[in-house]
Amino acid sequence: CGIVGYIGKEQAYPIVLKGLKRLEYRGYDSAGIAIYDGKDLNICKTKGKVADLQKKCESEIALKGTVGIGHTRWATHGEPNDVNSHPHYSNSGDLAIIHNGIIENYESLKTELQNRGYKFASDTDTEVLVNLIEDIMTNEEVKLGKAVQIALNQTVGAYAIAVFDKTKPNEIVVARLGSPLAIGVGDNEYFIASDASPFIEYTKKAIYLEDGEMAVVRLGKHVKVRKIKDDKLVDPYVQKLQL
Ligand code: GLU
Repeated sequence: CGIVGYIGKEQAYPIVLKGLKRLEYRGYDSAGIAIYDGKDLNICKTKGKVADLQKKCESEIALKGTVGIGHTRWATHGEPNDVNSHPHYSNSGDLAIIHNGIIENYESLKTELQNRGYKFASDTDTEVLVNLIEDIMTNEEVKLGKAVQIALNQTVGAYAIAVFDKTKPNEIVVARLGSPLAIGVGDNEYFIASDASPFIEYTKKAIYLEDGEMAVVRLGKHVKVRKIKDDKLVDPYVQKLQL
C-alpha cells in the first residue's frame, strides 16, 4: 500500500507510475492513478500489478497532464477488484482521493451520506471519506483544505490521504495519521509519497508529516502544515535527503 502524487510543470503520469513501481515493495493487490489534463480528471485503476495498470491506462485514458495521484491498495474494506481500487471520485466527479489505512466508523458516515442522497460505487471506506469531504464543501461552503480537516475530525481510524479538486487544480491536500506521508519540495513542483523513494531522483528536500498533521500543497506557495485537531499552524521542517 502506497501513495504517490505530483503537481508541477512536468508530465505527471510517468513520474507517478514510476513512483508506484518504487513503492511495490510495500505489498498491494491493486493500483490506480488519476491525471488532471487541464479540463477532465481521468481515473484508471485495476486489480493486479502496476504493470497491469500501465497497460490498461495507456489504452484507456488521456494521460497528458501536470497533476496526478497514484495508489497501490492493500484491501481492508471491499474485496480487491477494479471498482474498489483507488483513486475514488466524489459523487460530483470533482474530487479524487487516494487513501492508505482504515476509516473505522465508515458505516455510520456512509448511512448518513446515503440518507442525503449520496451513491456509492465501491465497498470501500475510502469512498465514504471523499464524499464526506464533498458534502462538507457543499454544505459549509468551505474550501478543500478546510473540508478535509472537518471530515477527518469526524473519522476514527488511520490514514495517509491525498485529495485533489479539479475546480482548484493548483493544489493537493494531504494528511496523515498512522500511515507515513512525505512531501518532496522541488523547483515550482511538489511530490507526495509514502516515503521519499518515488521522488529522491527529482529533489533532495522533503517534509515528513507527523501523525495528526495535514498540509495544503499549492503551486507557487510554501507548503502549509497544520494540526488536524486544533488547527494550529506548524512550521514545516524541510529535511535534506542523503543519496
Ligand atoms: N481501507 C482502504 C481500502 O480498503 C485502503 C487500503 C490501503 O491501505 O491500501 O480500500
